[in-house]
Amino acid sequence: MCHCLACQQRTGSVFGVQARWPSERVTVGGQAHAYVRTGDEGGRATFRFCPTCGATVYYELEALPGVVAVPVGAFADPNFPPPERSIYGERRHPWVTTTLAIEELD
Ligand SMILES: [Zn+2]
Repeated sequence: MCHCLACQQRTGSVFGVQARWPSERVTVGGQAHAYVRTGDEGGRATFRFCPTCGATVYYELEALPGVVAVPVGAFADPNFPPPERSIYGERRHPWVTTTLAIEELD
């Protein structure tokens, strides 16, 4: 779960949630457009989004080579496992709370 301002702008929501896999375990089909964004602390990420609806379908972080991140909402599965870690807590909207036992990384 990421509360950074860039994720807020990308998702149009107040935080983003992603799941990550080793790239060799990910198969990509169909078309996707790319957008490279520089994050709050200078790291670059390449976002791939659907050319029809604009939804982010997966992305890769320069700081994590060999890893593919998929926005959890893309699965449209309310039973998807909950996030285990949270970052950029200093940018969290104060009304965002969770009952999860979640590891705060910043
Ligand atoms: Zn973020």
